[in-house]
Amino acid sequence: MAKHLPLLIIGAGPFGLAMSAHARRAGVEHVVVGKSMEFWKTHMPKHMYLRSACDWHYDPFDEDTIERYLQTKNLKSNEVEPLALDFYLGYCDWFQQKRAIESLQARVDALNLTQDGSTYFESVLEDGKTMTAQNVVVAVGFRYFMNVPEPYRALFPAGRFAHTCDFVDLTALKNKRVLIIGGRQSAFEWAALISEQGADTLYLSYRHPTPVFEKSDWSWVNPLLDIIAIDPGWFRRLKPEKKESLVQRFWAEGRLKLEPWLGKRISRDTIKLLPQSQVTACKEQPSGELEVTVNGVTCIVDQIILATGYKVNVSQIPFLANGNILNQLDSKNGFPVLDDHLQSNVAGLFFTSMCATQDFGPFFAFTAAVRTSAKLIGAALRG
Ligand SMILES: Cc1cc2nc3c(=O)[nH]c(=O)nc-3n(C[C@H](O)[C@H](O)[C@H](O)COP(=O)(O)OP(=O)(O)OC[C@H]3O[C@@H](n4cnc5c(N)ncnc54)[C@H](O)[C@@H]3O)c2cc1C
Repeated sequence: MAKHLPLLIIGAGPFGLAMSAHARRAGVEHVVVGKSMEFWKTHMPKHMYLRSACDWHYDPFDEDTIERYLQTKNLKSNEVEPLALDFYLGYCDWFQQKRAIESLQARVDALNLTQDGSTYFESVLEDGKTMTAQNVVVAVGFRYFMNVPEPYRALFPAGRFAHTCDFVDLTALKNKRVLIIGGRQSAFEWAALISEQGADTLYLSYRHPTPVFEKSDWSWVNPLLDIIAIDPGWFRRLKPEKKESLVQRFWAEGRLKLEPWLGKRISRDTIKLLPQSQVTACKEQPSGELEVTVNGVTCIVDQIILATGYKVNVSQIPFLANGNILNQLDSKNGFPVLDDHLQSNVAGLFFTSMCATQDFGPFFAFTAAVRTSAKLIGAALRG
């Protein structure tokens, strides 16, 4: 029988890196495929600040924490928070070096389940090379789940709108007029950054009232994730009303609040907030200008940006769509159905990060969950 790699980790973002650190300590031979921190480097704008703080680090063994990284630089957390994207990427590099994590800077194009006496996975890389593994962890984050609501696709001319995920070079918007649709942290942070790049006017349209600029309290999240690491079914077993209230609490901290450091940056004459509004029409003029109607008022803009978030649909992961696994994978509401160790009904195939939020809670969309994720998967690898 051919020898297969015990573990293939697809994705070199926070979840993939923490998984690798865990597997290495446990002596599990593995390969990480994916460009290191690609999503953070290429789908977030330069000069962005994080919402999370130093306590959401990557080390399942609590050694190579952000605090430890700060000590190497003689810095204290209050000197670096809110964390700038560049600083955070510095931590990620340091963590990778400390844990000797090397990722194969490649892309998996297809993933198949196959047999040679036992079942195993065959991944096909972009250059056609293949790699076989007994276990696969899918840690591909948000990228494939951009939410572009259908009505907007129909309303806006093709090529004149983009999701925040694909619009991070904000220098191109100098002297331009921009409409951002969405009213949560990303919408406001993109607005601040675009405005600081010298945009002419920015309109922000969102259906709800303006969230408050107030510090979010995430202090309760780490203790909860520690519980889940020991009792993985904890979230799943909650009574519906308890589960709902937990989801609401998370929602309230994340969505009903905007970071206080954004408040001042948004208060400029060139930024027009349009709370409780909705776009109803859009016409492209021969001049190329877009005439957009928002609650009966016309805004003339050059670019539309959708800060409309992300929505999991596992069938949109290209290497699954290109392979033979999807038709045997159990899913519900677009999410893979997972057991207590983030394993799908296909033995040896694990999903984490945003794909795990339905079964493990909304915290799994954030880096707070990387350590718990690694521990749970690490305890259930086949072979
Ligand atoms: C604007 C914005 C701000 C955010 N701010 C915060 C914050 O402050 N704090 C926080 O905790 N979270 C934040 N998040 C959420 C955070 O981005 C995610 O929690 C985190 O990135 C998920 O990590 P991940 O490892 O699953 O995936 P990602 O970080 O998305 O990494 C995905 C990895 O998969 C690889 N990959 C993808 N497809 C393939 C393929 N086919 N083959 C091989 N490799 C592949 C990529 O190259 C990459 O290495 C933010 C998200 C957004 C959009």
